[in-house]
Amino acid sequence: MMAERLSEAQIQALIASELPDLNEQFQGHRTGCQCAAHDDEPCPNAAVYVIEAHATDECKGDGVNEFGNWVSFLCHECATELVIKICLDVATRGLHAILSGRDESLRCETCVAPIRSHREILRSVRRYEEVFPDGA
Ligand SMILES: [Zn+2]
Ligand SMILES: [Zn+2]
Ligand SMILES: [Zn+2]
Repeated sequence: MMAERLSEAQIQALIASELPDLNEQFQGHRTGCQCAAHDDEPCPNAAVYVIEAHATDECKGDGVNEFGNWVSFLCHECATELVIKICLDVATRGLHAILSGRDESLRCETCVAPIRSHREILRSVRRYEEVFPDGA
């Protein structure tokens, strides 16, 4: 079975290869929260977590890593909201599965990975300073 989480080495490779332009920002100062849920102004908080979440039903799309996950830098408040959103998504899928008497809806449509709990979408949460020791 394929690993669903990034190893240390893969995190380092990701920083080195997939985020080269961001890498410069991490020298000496912390990047801002990248939450996309704010229509008007971007979130003003500093990022405190590096979060890897499965791009459910579109995990072969743009901007995902080799595991079909989005990697984003979020502040505590926006990370909490993301977790709530993911839990609601899982609950909605669970409800549909019960109503339809099938459990196809408890899978990612794209890669058929099971989605029975929020942990199967929220694949890793790491402290920013753990991932970028020089970026704090
Ligand atoms: Zn935020
Ligand atoms: Zn936010
Ligand atoms: Zn998938």
